[in-house]
Amino acid sequence: MKSKKCFGKELSQLQRIELDACTQCGECLKHCPVQEVTGKPEISPPEKIRMFKKLMRETDSIKSSLFGKDVDPKLIQDFTNAVYECTVCGACGQNCPVGLFNQRLWPVLRKEMVMRGLGPVGPQANMPKVVKETGNPYNEPPEKRYSPWFPGDVQVAESADIAYYAGCTGAYQAQPMVKGDVRVLNAIGKPFTMLPPEEEVCCGFPLFITGQHDMLKDLTDRLVTAYKAKGVKTLLCSCPCCVNIMARDWPIYYGKKLPFKIRHITQYVDDELKKGRIKIKKKLTERIIYHDPCYLSRGVGIIAEPRSILGSIPGIELLEFDRHGVNSRCCGAGGAARKVHHENAIAMGRLTINEAVEKRADKLVLSCPACYEKVNEAMKGHDRKIKIVDIMELIAELV
Ligand code: SF4
Ligand code: SF4
Repeated sequence: MKSKKCFGKELSQLQRIELDACTQCGECLKHCPVQEVTGKPEISPPEKIRMFKKLMRETDSIKSSLFGKDVDPKLIQDFTNAVYECTVCGACGQNCPVGLFNQRLWPVLRKEMVMRGLGPVGPQANMPKVVKETGNPYNEPPEKRYSPWFPGDVQVAESADIAYYAGCTGAYQAQPMVKGDVRVLNAIGKPFTMLPPEEEVCCGFPLFITGQHDMLKDLTDRLVTAYKAKGVKTLLCSCPCCVNIMARDWPIYYGKKLPFKIRHITQYVDDELKKGRIKIKKKLTERIIYHDPCYLSRGVGIIAEPRSILGSIPGIELLEFDRHGVNSRCCGAGGAARKVHHENAIAMGRLTINEAVEKRADKLVLSCPACYEKVNEAMKGHDRKIKIVDIMELIAELV
């Protein structure tokens, strides 16, 4: 492949320093779930960094910018495979002695590939077209976004200080979870608003994480403008990936501070429980284990709130995975890699199920629609079984 463009143009100064700072020590390999299920050294963080630096070196000269440079097609292919097989879970960066922020670095490297027509891979490439046509990455009808899961007895206000964003994965693929969210909001009793189903478009995260950035400003502007028009002061959602892009990237695409706060539903519900606005009335004599979603714990540091909510259930014994909090192991659903490397995602989901079963948990509690969908799928045909429940689905049954 002849390239006149230097690889690395999208990297910030800090990210260039990060690439140089990697000592190739391999510490991160011990924490990588893709390594755990595939054993493929070529997709490891140090290998990805080594390959990308080689691409940068091969294209970073005046001669190559004038006349182009033949870049080894195998190197490009190997790097593309590696950067898209990763679940972008960020466990490698969390455990990197140098402190590389890989949850942000890998998406930028994916963007580099997309800008040269070398990414994304497989069905990920259809996402921009599908999001443009339907407002969601699953090609589902926009008018059915809230049906059939939205409970008939829950009232949604025309406008309110609080808005709830269901998100595409919750609305179409993890409906018991979003149903639990609105039931708990209803039990709290403060009015909340939502956008009409056709207006609640994708937050942009699936496009961001696959490196396809063209529509991100438009999606952000549409959503921010619509919530602002409703006078919203706090936007709640339960998907950790939505929370990430809203809190970290929406202000960049919007061009200024957002006119409302972004909160994960567990933050809001934990506060309301502490204020006594809702009470958990029923007892649950069970051992439950909570899985930290990568983009909730490592992403935005929400670790204590889900545990505080679960800890307020009378009678429960709360167990922990060996890797929990910021060290949580990816359930397999991350980075849109599940769309291409389905078998890896299932294998990772089964590691989570197996550990929960080995710790003799009665229930595995999740707090992310992608985890919910993938871990449920991983249990199909698996010889180990456990009851899987979303945190708000569980709380809705107890308040
Ligand atoms: S982000 Fe996760 S899957 Fe990707 S290399 Fe790091 S630890 Fe492995
Ligand atoms: S732990 Fe950090 S420095 Fe070591 S190989 Fe991994 S990314 Fe590089």
